[in-house]
Amino acid sequence: MRKKIVAGNWKMNMNLQEGIDLAKELQEMLTAEKPNCDVVICTPFIHLASIAQFLNQDLIGLGAENCADKDKGAYTGEVSAEMVKSTGAKYVIIGHSERREYYHETPEILKEKVLLALQKGLKVIFCIGESLAEREAGKQNEVVKAELEGSVFNLTAEEFRNIVIAYEPIWAIGTGKTATAEQAEEIHAYIRSTVAERYGNEVAEQTSILYGGSCKASNAPELFAKPDIDGGLIGGASLKAADFKGIIDAWK
Ligand code: PEP
Repeated sequence: MRKKIVAGNWKMNMNLQEGIDLAKELQEMLTAEKPNCDVVICTPFIHLASIAQFLNQDLIGLGAENCADKDKGAYTGEVSAEMVKSTGAKYVIIGHSERREYYHETPEILKEKVLLALQKGLKVIFCIGESLAEREAGKQNEVVKAELEGSVFNLTAEEFRNIVIAYEPIWAIGTGKTATAEQAEEIHAYIRSTVAERYGNEVAEQTSILYGGSCKASNAPELFAKPDIDGGLIGGASLKAADFKGIIDAWK
């Protein structure tokens, strides 16, 4: 059985103390009532080392939202995969549409980031997804396949086992517009078939594919009930412990 995962992406929200408070609150809630899925929180870099000090990572995995495409050296302001790993974090989000769009991260850059993250022993949550114009032109399958081919299908099957895919239609991120469960299932099944073509059925069956885009407690149960949706990558609704817990509870 592949892993069911609910992962939070805090983005550029909360100062250090607020982040610590949120992680503690979530940990208390999940200690009192154990989740039926893996739970991950991906936080700004500056939160990682402090949160790693107290987080029970058997209960809540810790991750970064990005890492550098270079190993080390004179890259002012960058944070390497090794630095992320050294905080105690176990995951990193790579390829989020906000990074592709606002920071011009190309498939080649993302490919380097993925390789470095895996080399340092991090698990990668790799994001893919089409824009509204691409969906309206019926190009969503083409787009997600190209994103996989451009940055992760160069990996060996062994390496690919450390990839979690997050399908996030750009038109649904932070907009309040969610893909319907049917729309999401259709493309998740397509993504899994693409992974199967490249790595075979066994790897495809083991690959967790998360849905992201205005996922909340009210729509998570319907989305997660679909056979190819293995959980969610959650932005806005991961910023309050009760909201995030509501989504985690969709697996109950
Ligand atoms: C995200 O950015 O990963 C995301 C899914 O955001 P939101 O849940 O706010 O749409």
